[in-house]
Amino acid sequence: MTRFIFITGGVVSSLGKGLASASLGALLQARGFKVRLRKLDPYINVDPGTMSPYQHGEVYVTDDGAETDLDLGHYERFTGVASRQSDNVTTGRIYSDVIAKERRGDYLGATIQVIPHITDALKSFVTSDITDEDFVLCEIGGTVGDIEGLPFLEAIRQLRNDLGRDNTMYLHLTLVPYIPTAGELKTKPTQHSVKELLSVGIQPDVLLCRSEREIPVAERRKIAQFCNVHEDAVIQALDVPTIYNVPVAYHEEGLDEQVCRHFNIDSKKPDLSAWKNICETVTKPEGEVSIAIVGKYTGLRDAYKSLSEALDHGGIANKVNVGMHWMDSEIFETDDALHHLEGVHGILVPGGFGERGSEGKIAAARFARERKIPYFGICFGMQMAVVEAARNMAGLHKAGSTEFGPCEHPVVGLMTEWMQGGDLQKRESGGNMGGTMRLGAYPCVLEKGSRVSEIYADSKISERHRHRYEVNTGYRDQLEAAGMKFSGMSPDGVLPEIVEIPDHPWFVGVQFHPELKSKPFEPHPLFTSFIAGAVNQSRLV
Ligand code: GLN
Repeated sequence: MTRFIFITGGVVSSLGKGLASASLGALLQARGFKVRLRKLDPYINVDPGTMSPYQHGEVYVTDDGAETDLDLGHYERFTGVASRQSDNVTTGRIYSDVIAKERRGDYLGATIQVIPHITDALKSFVTSDITDEDFVLCEIGGTVGDIEGLPFLEAIRQLRNDLGRDNTMYLHLTLVPYIPTAGELKTKPTQHSVKELLSVGIQPDVLLCRSEREIPVAERRKIAQFCNVHEDAVIQALDVPTIYNVPVAYHEEGLDEQVCRHFNIDSKKPDLSAWKNICETVTKPEGEVSIAIVGKYTGLRDAYKSLSEALDHGGIANKVNVGMHWMDSEIFETDDALHHLEGVHGILVPGGFGERGSEGKIAAARFARERKIPYFGICFGMQMAVVEAARNMAGLHKAGSTEFGPCEHPVVGLMTEWMQGGDLQKRESGGNMGGTMRLGAYPCVLEKGSRVSEIYADSKISERHRHRYEVNTGYRDQLEAAGMKFSGMSPDGVLPEIVEIPDHPWFVGVQFHPELKSKPFEPHPLFTSFIAGAVNQSRLV
């Protein structure tokens, strides 16, 4: 029987509910259980695909092509379990499904209401597409008390009745702030947050209390008493030096123990040696490299969450610390700013959309190519490297991407039709923005003898995509003659997936997003190799 753990958050947002959920998933996994993690988001967007990265952080893409919340990235990185479309839902998606059914007449004339129709749709989302998982961890986005979160809380409240106490658990994450003027930790916000939960009929079973200081026994007792939970189930969650410490820290505070006790399960102690090794490597690096990330949303780290994680994983694999220098590409649109790139050991241009700042990315790619600094272009970063190579290696001075309007040499352009697993996919220019990109996992065949085939030690790979435009194979011969090789192609040879410059210490552009599949225990080979290239570069400068 699958057991469900519902994770809510109170007091303030940004307490790290996603990481807490991912860490509990990892702990249960380390005890030998099969876990699955899900996120229910109360906002009205159908998915986060159309949301600005500034508003919502990165869009995490799954193998099956869902554009999901970035917390699914934490889940996948911490547990290694590949997320799916059926692991993330929003109010918008639930309502649009219910309304579509209503239009079809499926409800046979009934009045459609939040309870039971929306809550039933939420409950069936939570409980469907499960096979033999021991635990499904279900994180509710937002903060308890938000108006839009109410149907979600109602749905999980009902699920305890439906599935029984023995199969459900409520974990509530709160904040215990330290007030310097009083010199005290305050429990009142936690009490209020639990009161709010109780008002919708949910009694939390375990409280995970974020705090910057140790919570003394007296305060813990107070929380237990006022919030009606067992004292052992008030667990402190102190700040830790790296995110990799979180599972170990929560284990030491007894989180997984409490979960097992709640469900009356006898299980072996978790083996956390892999987590401990990672913490050790991260806190005692043998060197340091500096990587410039030339992008657009550099003001908000969450916009490139998987990317910064993957760079860290590359650092773990090479036992070095990766210093990340986030640079707004627009600054490189004047020549005198390029000195900012002087001395970095690698340049990475990540995914992006739109013309603003694109010339700066092209300039950064040129700097990396000419100065023989390792260059890693991801999606838009590959496309801009191709534009640069077309202009300055192949002499096509008016080369560009049709994403910015018509141009004389469209080396990057819109593909209107392509195949995915035997099905024809179509896309129109000027069509809907949501869900119309090439999304999810696609296979790619690597050229024998290429750098990437060495890096992957394989000839066929699968990676996740999220883009509308493609490198134009009409220019392949000219680009290859000039020194940029197309070393990875879709199996039918139609879509370029990887370009590289063999006559350069490390210059690779990929149309997909390798950062989405990198994990601390299994750093992505491209990131491991890129950081190794940066380590070599650091020995030269
Ligand atoms: N804007 C480009 C496209 O749509 C690149 C997208 C990306 O980098 N994810 O093709």
